[in-house]
Amino acid sequence: FYAPPSQIHGDMAELLDQEAQHASKVMRMREGDRLIVVDGKGGRYEGPIRRITKKSVQIELEEHQQFDEPVPKIILGMGIIKKRDRLEFAIEKAVELGAWHVALFRSDHGIKENVRMDRLNAIAISAMKQSLHTYLPAISMHYSVEEVMDEFYDAYCLMAHEKADTDRSVRSISKDTKDKYLLLVGPEGGFSPEEVEKATVKGAKLVSLGPYRLRAETAALATMSQFVT
Ligand code: SAM
Repeated sequence: FYAPPSQIHGDMAELLDQEAQHASKVMRMREGDRLIVVDGKGGRYEGPIRRITKKSVQIELEEHQQFDEPVPKIILGMGIIKKRDRLEFAIEKAVELGAWHVALFRSDHGIKENVRMDRLNAIAISAMKQSLHTYLPAISMHYSVEEVMDEFYDAYCLMAHEKADTDRSVRSISKDTKDKYLLLVGPEGGFSPEEVEKATVKGAKLVSLGPYRLRAETAALATMSQFVT
């Protein structure tokens, strides 16, 4: 279960909203049942339920483990894609693969509409729990790929680009020298030449995922998977 740090006070945690409903209605848990809670900031707790209603579950935290932040930190920068289910799929899988942050951006060849951040955050929480991660990646929205690069200026930036030399594969990039990597993947329509130019001027290295054209969500996962430790 997930309870953010604001719902953890001393040795008690409180589940609210969907988390409380899941425990009480779906899993039919009762007082005395033990459960595991993660706070999305590396904290993993375990203990018995002391009070349970449909809206709130109070847990006494008897055990606590604190996990270190992942190294290296992987930021997936992804152009917003039109098909909502494909974007959601990419975010779910990126969280499973250990993304530290997902930065979505509008791009010249992508869609301009906003996305439902509440839905994406719920997907990220569910993926974090399912895959037993203790850190919940933040999801942010940006107006351009440049803005993402400015925000994560201290990360080593790789831009997946179909026209990159296939010798420059993501696999060939050494993964243990930097503590933060920003992986940029374009939307269905790809990056415009201007975006590629601006990104490379800012220091992005173009990398290839092989000679075939992958869908944006496949490219995101293929890039991320190279960083799974
Ligand atoms: N028609 C678009 C174009 O010509 O750029 C195709 C874009 S592709 C569906 C979406 C994104 O996936 C690309 O912007 C790129 O970031 C990534 N991608 C897909 N295949 C790739 C490959 N073989 N190598 C590197 N990146 C790739």
